[in-house]
Amino acid sequence: MPRISKKIIFKSLKGMHDILPANQVLWDKMRQNLREVAGFYNFLRIDMPLLEDAQLFEKSTGQDTDIVEKQMFVVKSSRGDMALRPEGTPSVARAYLQHGLSHLAQPVKLYYEGPMFRREQPQAGRLRQFHQAGFEIVSSADDPVYDAQVMVACVRFIESLKIKDLSIRINSIGCKVCRPSYRKKLVDYYKPLTKSLCDDCTRRLRTNPLRLLDCKNDNCQPLRGSAPIMLDSICANCSKHFKTLLEYVEDLKLPYALDHHLVRGLDYYTKTVFEIFTEGIDFALGGGGRYDYLIEMLGGRHSPAVGAALGLDRLVEVIRLKDVNLRVKPKTKIAFVHVGNLAKQKSLALIEELREAKIDVIDFLGKESLNAQLSMANKLGAPLSLIFGQKEALEEDIIIRDMKTGSQETVPLKRIVKGIKRKLK
Ligand code: AMP
Repeated sequence: MPRISKKIIFKSLKGMHDILPANQVLWDKMRQNLREVAGFYNFLRIDMPLLEDAQLFEKSTGQDTDIVEKQMFVVKSSRGDMALRPEGTPSVARAYLQHGLSHLAQPVKLYYEGPMFRREQPQAGRLRQFHQAGFEIVSSADDPVYDAQVMVACVRFIESLKIKDLSIRINSIGCKVCRPSYRKKLVDYYKPLTKSLCDDCTRRLRTNPLRLLDCKNDNCQPLRGSAPIMLDSICANCSKHFKTLLEYVEDLKLPYALDHHLVRGLDYYTKTVFEIFTEGIDFALGGGGRYDYLIEMLGGRHSPAVGAALGLDRLVEVIRLKDVNLRVKPKTKIAFVHVGNLAKQKSLALIEELREAKIDVIDFLGKESLNAQLSMANKLGAPLSLIFGQKEALEEDIIIRDMKTGSQETVPLKRIVKGIKRKLK
């Protein structure tokens, strides 16, 4: 039987979307601001591959975390599983070790930007392919000055997008020394309440009890109100680190609030954890923390580090929700208008000459009517139109039309660049 071909209408996958031309101006602006902020604070750009050995995330982000356990897009291969990166920090740590970046001037400050992938339930601010910008600082000491530098870079970048009313929620989740005793206190508190916990939290009580504090389930949330607080249990070293950090944050006049329930889900965090919010929006714009043992865990020397990632799609969403006017406009171009076949034939070469002279033009070579082309030029807000017709093609000159006044001047092709620059002044 002949196969009946069914017409398939393809759509982007759930939680993954296109960034259309109209939005690219905003994305360009974000990337440009990121470059400027990172440059000011001396972060060097790094780009990592989208695919990594899946074990990198299992070892660093943590086998029992939601990200690794439930959300990773895994690609099977004969050499073992690969994963579409769900976050950037493990890849930065891997690259740091692989390329011996410890030999760079200390501290090593890196930044990145690009897509991440997590198989989450798509909802407001939660996509399956999303974009993060991240700042990371690796050094030989766990100096809280670096935690403050990561925070200030994040805040200044968000502020550069005119998003206001920010607040950094900060907590310390202690270190190898003090966390085990806090973990025990937490388990002792929650164990008698097991019946009231959601399934995830019942499991977390065994695998990752700190995560009970940031469970969003309506039954679990009220229980954390009386749970022991990490800051009451941290050791003298962590306490000093935290106090010094808060002093830096105050000196920088960064808006912050302590959040005793903030733990962040990943295994590698030690001491500082933080998330950044803007008033009136439920989701975090970014988050980060200190990861003093990650590089060691991956086979390197003890290299304390701190970092954060910001969600670029969320920043775009906030700009929309808060109606922020960034005044980003596409670059205005000079219109190139042709009339007749001879002119059209000579147009492509002429446009190349303009490109070499750095004159930015937009052409309408697919249209024939002069009026249609001039009306397009008007719509695009072109300050000048270059009109190239049969007569001009034969006589080797061109008409420069001021689109505001309508005044026109014919100039020889040889002097076109000078003519345009004079008119633009
Ligand atoms: P995380 O790596 O989970 O700490 O996330 C850091 C930031 O990335 C968050 O604060 C969000 O702004 C953003 N982000 C994380 N997951 C998603 C997601 N599924 N969709 C959109 N943005 C996300």
